[in-house]
Amino acid sequence: MLLTAVTLAGCAGGRDAAEQANQIVYIDGETQSTIVADVTDDLPAVHPQTGRRTLMPGLYCNSCDTWHSSPPIEVLQRNPAARQCPACRSPLTNTGPIANSQ
Ligand SMILES: [Zn+2]
Repeated sequence: MLLTAVTLAGCAGGRDAAEQANQIVYIDGETQSTIVADVTDDLPAVHPQTGRRTLMPGLYCNSCDTWHSSPPIEVLQRNPAARQCPACRSPLTNTGPIANSQ
């Protein structure tokens, strides 16, 4: 019984991982909450619940354990320092835990 459950969970996990390959974490500019949505170059991205363009890609700080809203791509290209955590100056990454999505 237990074995069956574990096997099923394993299969589902694999499928989820594949589906998430085309999704990233965004920060909602209105609520500052994190949300996972499809990757798009058309920014700000459309919030799936409100239908409004309020989502900017999230950058993750490992030190603060926090997602920060990414500056516009032009700013990132002009100023590499924009890719640092505003709180602790650690380099931000595009990936991080998707937990606590609201
Ligand atoms: Zn930080």
